[in-house]
Amino acid sequence: MPVLDHLTKPQQDLRNGEIPMAAAFHNVPVLLVEDEPDMAAEVSEELTKLGYHVRVAETEAEALAAARSHPAALMIVDRMLKGRDSLPMIEILRKESIKMPVLVVSALASVDERIRGLKAGGDDYLIKPFDMGELAARIEALLRRSNDSRAAVLQVGPLRIDLIERSAMRGERLLDLLPTEFKLLEYLMRRPGQVITRTMLLEDVWHYRNMPQTNLVDVHIGKLRRKLDMAGDTPLIRSVRRSGFMLHVGD
Ligand code: CA
Repeated sequence: MPVLDHLTKPQQDLRNGEIPMAAAFHNVPVLLVEDEPDMAAEVSEELTKLGYHVRVAETEAEALAAARSHPAALMIVDRMLKGRDSLPMIEILRKESIKMPVLVVSALASVDERIRGLKAGGDDYLIKPFDMGELAARIEALLRRSNDSRAAVLQVGPLRIDLIERSAMRGERLLDLLPTEFKLLEYLMRRPGQVITRTMLLEDVWHYRNMPQTNLVDVHIGKLRRKLDMAGDTPLIRSVRRSGFMLHVGD
């Protein structure tokens, strides 16, 4: 089949379980909002060990600024920040349609407080003091839920795609992607930090099994890169020598 014919045909949907959900949380950006330096350092160190890219905010203002400018895959929010309740801040984020999962951590353990936390827009509520293993497990569960193949929106670092609207954004900028570029981006966003080979892309995105000698992948990656990165932006798709590509978010 000529390549161009193939590409101009409506592409079969890839969401129906075709892409295995790899448990790849490597370099996944997490925003930790915690005013106690020791606690922030301890949690940050643990999560970094697990491969997360952790950014710490100590105040509501810092957290709001960070959430707006560097959307993370998940936010961990301490309930009390410098003596102030952080729930109103979560409500502000939700009003701004910032949808990243929020894990509220708090010493306020009553059922009423937990309900308040969830109603304010928290997705989970963990009581302090907590075990690091439990924190890690809950983060994974939240990420799995939010990057579930049934989820309508995928967010990785500054990238956000809506699988129903078929729209894609980098930060505040709407990306004008062709269907193949959209599928390519979705594929990469489901595997942040993983090496993606040309063979994987040919087989999974284009459904080629017999490996034609083609520069198809490189051509489309090139086009996608030019749409993702404006001058001054950190390039998001990196080339991995002799292997392929990697979606790299975080530093
Ligand atoms: Ca606190």
